[in-house]
Amino acid sequence: MTKVLVPTVCPYCGAGCGFYVAAERERAIGIEYMLDHPVSQGALCAKGNAALEILYHPDRLTTPLKRKGEGWARISWPEALDLVAKGLSQARKKHGPRSLAFLSSSKCSNEENYLMQKLARLLGSPHIDNCARLCHAPSVVGLNRTLGAAGMTNPIPDIASSRCIFIIGSNLAENHPVISRWIHRAKDRGATVIVADPRATPTSWMADVFLQLEPGTDVALLNGMAHVIINEGLINREYIVQKTKGFEALVQAAKDFTPQRTAEITGIAPEDIVRAARAYATSPASAILYSMGITQHSTGTDNVQAISNLALICGQMGRPGTGVMPLRGQNNVQGACDMGALKEFYPGYKRADDPNTIRYFREAWNATDLPPGPGLTAMEMIKAAGRGEIKAMYILGEDPANSDPCSEHVRQALGNLDFLVVQDIFMTATAQLADVVLPGAVWAEKEGSYTNTERRVQWSHKAIEPPGEGRSDSEIICDVARSLG
Ligand code: SF4
Repeated sequence: MTKVLVPTVCPYCGAGCGFYVAAERERAIGIEYMLDHPVSQGALCAKGNAALEILYHPDRLTTPLKRKGEGWARISWPEALDLVAKGLSQARKKHGPRSLAFLSSSKCSNEENYLMQKLARLLGSPHIDNCARLCHAPSVVGLNRTLGAAGMTNPIPDIASSRCIFIIGSNLAENHPVISRWIHRAKDRGATVIVADPRATPTSWMADVFLQLEPGTDVALLNGMAHVIINEGLINREYIVQKTKGFEALVQAAKDFTPQRTAEITGIAPEDIVRAARAYATSPASAILYSMGITQHSTGTDNVQAISNLALICGQMGRPGTGVMPLRGQNNVQGACDMGALKEFYPGYKRADDPNTIRYFREAWNATDLPPGPGLTAMEMIKAAGRGEIKAMYILGEDPANSDPCSEHVRQALGNLDFLVVQDIFMTATAQLADVVLPGAVWAEKEGSYTNTERRVQWSHKAIEPPGEGRSDSEIICDVARSLG
């Protein structure tokens, strides 16, 4: 029997490394490296190398299940789809479409996310969200507001051309190991690396300047650096005049953040703040990389905006080796957001509160009516379920009962629903609370596109069949939609 090499995309982080699944007799037998992949160039980290482990895991879900007393009963697909259709439509009929909420998945493909948000909105619910809400939603808002687009400004291989790399709130050496290879490449060419993090990490070991700031003082640090750059005349005046607006407001905002005052707030020595600011502003090509250490704050959007401001006043934009680079966690956070699995945006970041958006999609989807947004965030859905306002939920590939804060509260709230359907590959803590559980498929068992952190859209091919009666998630969503009529 011939071995086939199926090109796929790693499912474990936003770097989007490519590799081949080697399959023989319908079975995955190993991984082959993809030497010509533009990001990974034949490399994979420990997570990518272990990607096949999940395929034949003994705990995978293999049939649809329905709750029966304290346990579970295996059921057929027609019965499962019928139960899901009844559960969702009964809540809709009795309590209105806004009593339904949908949680999509940043681990699923673009097509699956597009279908999920479309299903929610065609049923009349504005309540659609994905776990980007807990990681990079501040990037969506902050980058849209400052740069006009919610994504990385430069491709990952561009990092090798940087002469100064400022990493803030990111332990990328452990979380995005293949991206850190590009930083080492830049460092080998003489780049200066600045790392700002409250913790010393394997990423800070790469730093020429390590800014060990107090947690939650990122805006002060960034404003302090802006203060030095403005005061020392290191701004790119031509770029500011031609490409930006609001510079005077930033001058005012940064004016009190002297190195001394910034040092008092952040705990970083004033001379290190000055050194970092000068290195970033004066290098011929500086890039800023950040992750959830920036976004997972109550001031996450402010943090992102302060990063953009720093890049803009120095004109460190629009050239190789420059730019602002949010490093996404899950493999398809970028795509799930692009596809409109967000409470405030329809696909393509069309504002859900704009009547033109509603008009456009009503026509495109041949729908009589669509709900304007914004709907509820992922966390607000859970709270609303606890209050009895959300009556039915459809959760795809997410496990809020395990991963959200206050998990006991989440469990109680989900237990309060009239109907919960969970589509997943394992019997997660959330699935254990469901009325119906649908067995989905992992990346190698279905085809679809994924958008990595640099907005590279990559097609991942199907290598093998899902286990048992598991099915591709897009097929399941379409069948649920058909069952609902
Ligand atoms: S860096 Fe990310 S995408 Fe690349 S192999 Fe590791 S987990 Fe997979």
